[in-house]
Amino acid sequence: MIFRQLFDPQSSTYSYLLGDPRSGEAVLIDPVFEQARRDRALLAELELRLVATLETHVHADHVTGAWLLRQQLHSKIALSAASGAKGADLLLDHRSRVSFGSRYLEGRETPGHTGGCLTYVLDDESMAFTGDSLLIRGCGRTDFQGGSARTLYSSVHSQIFTLPATCLLYPAHDYRGLTVTSVDEERRFNPRLGSGVGEADFTGYMNNLGLPHPKQIDVAVPANLQCGQPGDAQTGMIDPGWAPLTFTFAGIWEIQPSALEEIAPSVQILDVREPSEYGGPLGHINGAQLIPLGELADRAKELAPDRPVVAVCRSGARSAQACVILQRAGFKDLANLAGGMLRWRAEGIHAEGGHV
Ligand code: FE
Repeated sequence: MIFRQLFDPQSSTYSYLLGDPRSGEAVLIDPVFEQARRDRALLAELELRLVATLETHVHADHVTGAWLLRQQLHSKIALSAASGAKGADLLLDHRSRVSFGSRYLEGRETPGHTGGCLTYVLDDESMAFTGDSLLIRGCGRTDFQGGSARTLYSSVHSQIFTLPATCLLYPAHDYRGLTVTSVDEERRFNPRLGSGVGEADFTGYMNNLGLPHPKQIDVAVPANLQCGQPGDAQTGMIDPGWAPLTFTFAGIWEIQPSALEEIAPSVQILDVREPSEYGGPLGHINGAQLIPLGELADRAKELAPDRPVVAVCRSGARSAQACVILQRAGFKDLANLAGGMLRWRAEGIHAEGGHV
């Protein structure tokens, strides 16, 4: 079996690619919207065909890549029937199976972190993907999305700790750099759920965590209840061919500094900072055209409508807004320089003027 653990540094989310080399079929557990391009590239290089994406639950900290991957690769979207999400192709219950080639994953209902959590167990019980039901030496919070500490306690003990001791456990997140654990390890060393910790200890602990409201929840949960389908305002989903771009869930195409450096002669580089910044310490990209953001709506006609435009500012925030303004003005091929001049300089790419 082909197995890859993938990481999204923004949300500390792990995605897992499992492939059957003989049939070329693969599944991806918990894909992240912003990483869809990376995931597609990896599938192509490993000559795998994505048959399904599987969610362990409706996430509150990132938007799933399920919808985007289905658009591009025609993969089926699978998640728990109890999740309440709309737009899925396969609604899974306890013991539902999703096959890839001659292998399969089986869902085990493990509610408690949310009301609709599934743990996916590989056919031979050598690996399980626990989502946030069980993290390495921890577990997901239980204070929103239908969560319940009592339910989680029972889920982990009845569905995860009953797997073979050697079964490797892969969580949806880790914030400390750990990647994998085992049933035996967590039974012995999980400080919240391991040996000797009773249900009352656990619920008391979980109900007094006092965690802050998750940053992404107001964006991520509504989006994930639609399997990651963006709203109407977020158009331009078809991959543009003029540059290697990443589509952010905010609806903006981004280009990395090194990629822009390579294609610079073929695009219009639009610097939307103030003149003092253009001539300031960070300098500017060779040949960049200066139109400050505040003047852009009126001066957009100074740009050629038939050539791609890459917008640049100091950090990438104003230039993202510039892309929105140009989109409204009818420009089609647009991208934002990720991280702006700060990252351009940090990566040591040549700039005109300025000093370090
Ligand atoms: Fe979660």
